Amino acid sequence: MKTLTELHCPECQSLKNDPFKKYNTVHNGERILLKCDECDNVFSETAGTPMQDIKSPISKVASVLKIRSEGMGLRATGRVLGMHKNTVSTWERLFGDQKETLMLYSFCHEFVSLVFEGDELYTVVGRRTDAHASEGWTAVIMERSSRFIVDQRCGAKDAALFESVMSTVCEYISQTGDLSFFSDGERRYGNTLFAFCAEALRNGKPGRPPKTLPKGLKLRVKNKGDQKHKRGPKRKKYQAPLREHPETDQELDESNIHANHVEANNAAMRRRNSAFRRRTNTYAKTVLGLQRTLDVYWVIHNFVRKHWTTGEVPAVAMGVLSAPLGLEDILMMQK
Ligand SMILES: [Zn+2]
Repeated sequence: MKTLTELHCPECQSLKNDPFKKYNTVHNGERILLKCDECDNVFSETAGTPMQDIKSPISKVASVLKIRSEGMGLRATGRVLGMHKNTVSTWERLFGDQKETLMLYSFCHEFVSLVFEGDELYTVVGRRTDAHASEGWTAVIMERSSRFIVDQRCGAKDAALFESVMSTVCEYISQTGDLSFFSDGERRYGNTLFAFCAEALRNGKPGRPPKTLPKGLKLRVKNKGDQKHKRGPKRKKYQAPLREHPETDQELDESNIHANHVEANNAAMRRRNSAFRRRTNTYAKTVLGLQRTLDVYWVIHNFVRKHWTTGEVPAVAMGVLSAPLGLEDILMMQK
């Protein structure tokens, strides 16, 4: 597997290359040109990285991302650093686009066991509408012990939103034999997961074989509704709404079934992503703009910043990386 910092030739994708010569840039000092061993193509060490399109010093780009990821708004960041807000958002987009590479990299590992929590949070996008009609919903999936954000996507609270985050969850099912998914929110997490990955159970009995979740996958969703004042037998707080594989180990401590960690993260996101803070009437102008800030948050939260309670960078804690990445590493990483 290609490491994150290894450079490949943009022409033939070969990883074999040698330094060819050095060149000077106005703001970023000396940079290296590399020559491909396979096709003799000469390319810069920034080819295919976010910095390829940026002339400003890499340290300035990193400080913009740092300030933004501490919760300062787009316009305020532009004013403080004396630059146009559109430049700020362009840099964010180039940086946030690294999510895809980092996500694919994360799928390539094997995990002993994973505990995912799913929840939704909400902000206003564009004009204020009824919450149901809003496109400002964000579905967040977090791995519990590492606090790694598996995925977070925004849009209308519809099937497509749940499909987009659960397709990421599906990538992890084949990477571990033991995955639990808990949610206090929507039942659609479970239904979508079932639609994506349920398997027919070959049990030797006649008739159509029943479908179950893959072996090792457990799902618990909170029972909504007023349990205190309901007549009849009390329902359990969490239920397993879908048929699970008969060989799935059902040992689950009741106290472990909750989505508390992803909820705690929602509070942090409101503090650190200005689009989720109630300041003015509009928090995010467009869904695309909101997703851009979510992608930046995803990269920094998972790969750069130590988590405030575990004291570790989530990707390191989950076993995806051996050491944290710096903002500048990610800006010099090829797509
Ligand atoms: Zn080449």
